[in-house]
Parts: sequence; C-alpha cells; structure tokens
Amino acid sequence: MARTELGIPTVLAHPARPELPGAPAAFHLLAKPTGAICNLDCSYCFFLSKEELYPGSPFRMTDDLLAEYLRQLLEAHRAPEVTVAWQGGEPTLMGLAFFRRAVELVEALRRPDQVVEHTIQTNATLIDDDWAAFLAERDFLVGVSVDGPREIHDAYRVDKGGKPTFDRVIAGLTRLRAQGVRWNAMTTVHHANEDHGLRVYRFLRDELGTDFIQFIPIVERPSPGGIPTGSEVTDRSVSPAGYGRFLIDVFDEWVRRDVGAVYVQMFDSTLASFVGVPGALCVHARTCGASLALEHNGDVYSCDHFVEPEHLLGNIAATHLLELVASPQQVAFGNAKLDSLPGYCRSCDVRFACNGGCPKDRFTTTPQGEPGLHYLCPSYQLFFRHVDRPMRFMAGALRTGRHADEVMAWMARQDRRASGPQAG
Ligand code: SF4
Ligand code: SF4
Repeated sequence: MARTELGIPTVLAHPARPELPGAPAAFHLLAKPTGAICNLDCSYCFFLSKEELYPGSPFRMTDDLLAEYLRQLLEAHRAPEVTVAWQGGEPTLMGLAFFRRAVELVEALRRPDQVVEHTIQTNATLIDDDWAAFLAERDFLVGVSVDGPREIHDAYRVDKGGKPTFDRVIAGLTRLRAQGVRWNAMTTVHHANEDHGLRVYRFLRDELGTDFIQFIPIVERPSPGGIPTGSEVTDRSVSPAGYGRFLIDVFDEWVRRDVGAVYVQMFDSTLASFVGVPGALCVHARTCGASLALEHNGDVYSCDHFVEPEHLLGNIAATHLLELVASPQQVAFGNAKLDSLPGYCRSCDVRFACNGGCPKDRFTTTPQGEPGLHYLCPSYQLFFRHVDRPMRFMAGALRTGRHADEVMAWMARQDRRASGPQAG
C-alpha cells in the first residue's frame, strides 16, 4: 500500500476538512485506543461493560487510524492550543511504540502555530522506567487513578484476579515522580471513602505530593449491554449527600491552608461560577457537548459518558471529525443539558454554580415529582451553600485585582471570631 512519508496510506479516502463557519474553534476529545479493555477490573468502572458494544473486536486502534485521527484532530482546531488526550480502558496496553508514533505524527502534522498538549489517563500499574522516561521527555500530563490510602484504594480498584493494586500503582507513580513527569490525581468518591474526605485529601497532598486533584463521584447503575438503566444504584456508589460531605471535608482544610498551592478542580470550577466565567467542569456548565469520545475503531460519540448507540455521531473514516463535532446532533446533545432542566433546578438558589449536574445521572425526581433531577442534588446543595461565603470573598478579591489566596487570612479571622474572645 502506498504511503506518505508519515506512513499514512495514500489510498485511504480521507474525509476532507469541511468549511463550517459555526464550528467550535476548539473542543476536547478523549481517545480510547484500547476501547474498554483494561488490565484491571475496578468494581465500579462504568466503562468495562462498553466492551459489549463491539463484540469480536480486537480493541486496538490501528496505525492507519491513528494517523487519520491525529490529522483530523489538528485540522479541526482553529484555536492554537490542541490537547491530544488518551484514555481507556487502559491506554498503556497499546504499548510504548504506539505513543512514540503518535507524538511523531503530531510533530509532523501540526501547523507551526499549534501548541499541542499530550495527556494520558492511566492506572499506572504498567508504568516502567521506559514509560516514565518517554512521558517525561515528551512532557505528557499524566492523570493517575488513585483513590486514597491502601485500604481505601484497594476497596474497589482490583485486578482481574480480584487482587489489590495499591502497591503497583504506587510503584508506577514513584517512577513517574522520579523522572519529573507532570501528573495529577484522579480520585473517585464512593461508598468506601465518602466519609474520609480529609484523610484522602491529606494522603494525596502529603504522601503522594500531588498539587492537582480531580474528584469523580461514583454513581453506578446496572448497565445491561453497556447502557445504564433504572434508578437504583449499586452499593459501591457514593450516597446522594455523601459526595457533598466529602467535598466539604476537603474544602474546609483547603480554604484554610492550600489555596493557590493545591488545585482541586471542583473548587476552581466553583470559583469560576462565582466570578461569572465558565469553569473547567462540564457537569456544572449550562450546556455541554464539547467533550467527545473516540473509540478504537474511529467511532465518535457525543461524550465519554454516553458511549452508546443512540449517541454515536459517526466514524472519522467516513466523516471528518469537525463535521461530527459541529453536527446538529451534537449541538442538540449539548443544549439538552439546559433544555431538560427540571423546574426545581430552574428556581434553585445554587443553580448558577450547579446547573443541574451531568444528564447521565439525572434519574431521580424532584420533591414535586418531576423527573430528571440529579442523583447528587443533595450533595450539590450542601456543597455550594457551604462554600458560599469564602467563594464570594475569593471572587471579590479576583474582581478587584487581588489574589484568591487572601481568603486564608480571612478564614483565620472568621475562625477567631467564631471561637470568641481568647483568655489572656
Ligand atoms: S454529558 Fe455529562 S460528562 Fe458529558 S459533556 Fe455533558 S455534562 Fe459533561
Ligand atoms: S442543587 Fe439540585 S436543585 Fe439545585 S441546580 Fe443542582 S441539581 Fe438542581
């Protein structure tokens, strides 16, 4: 087969980049080169059941598709910053050669004005010295899934034999840190750690040395055929108010000593809402639809959380990625987040920060019996109300050109006042 210098088959009928005046200048796309395939078997993983969507598939992105995907991704971005994001399943199962090629292709295909950030989400258990050296050399931002200290982490993050994984994760992480790889913690909040927010936070900050944390609530429903169904959640799921309690536990420590030093995505995104600018979390944005997912075979879905037939937009071998991103189906998907908001949310005092949460988990009913309320509504109300005053303080500081970290001195004054006049 004839190939270009980059190894792209010239006989492939490449979909040409369409001219779409209304298309977004940038978007986020999670690519899953192994589909749902993972070397672990975390009990709460929502993605493992997605394997059922591709019966008989080898679950490996081919070299040709890799080249085609990267070409289209770079073409589709008019903004100079482009993120190439890999996720799974476990993407490192593709092997190092796949990612070396991906980086080389990006270097050869990107426009001179494009700055590309490479990211990869991993369970870190397969990270050896070669991996760590590569990720450091190519300046990847690595997300490591770790749920807290050993017994909390091992509650659900187990391998195919049901064995704990903590030691393997820490070994991989130690290699990453030894090479100076940029990394952040992705920590799920579930039944086993929802009452231990402070302990988990201190472990991540003090034992693992992370300064960037994403907390992800586990809301897991039975998923026959890979499609979440019904309104019952599994025992592993975080409780409706438990996620809020967890966040408050962490926030109360963070706002007194770590503002500006530790980035907690949920807190930063909430502060953005109080300032009145878009935050980083799609789940709390008014509309969504700019975070898509690419499967190992080129299928593009509306979102990583909606990898299901109804939300399949098309395949990049037939239709250019930009056309899928800007398609009426995708625009409608993003607007549905706002359009389907129940009346209870529309009149809620914290709606400006919450926006009803992700549609994936809107399967409970409002006190008035209207369907479509988010399962975590009690958590959201607890958290957004609890942080109201310090968030207002930080937003005010930022609006007047000062720094958000002044909130720590302000909190100290509030605490002194609350504890009353001191003796002596
Ligand atoms: S469906 Fe949920 S996770 Fe997906 S983009 Fe919308 S808010 Fe985000
Ligand atoms: S806190 Fe509850 S009622 Fe308020 S916007 Fe969020 S989900 Fe809706």
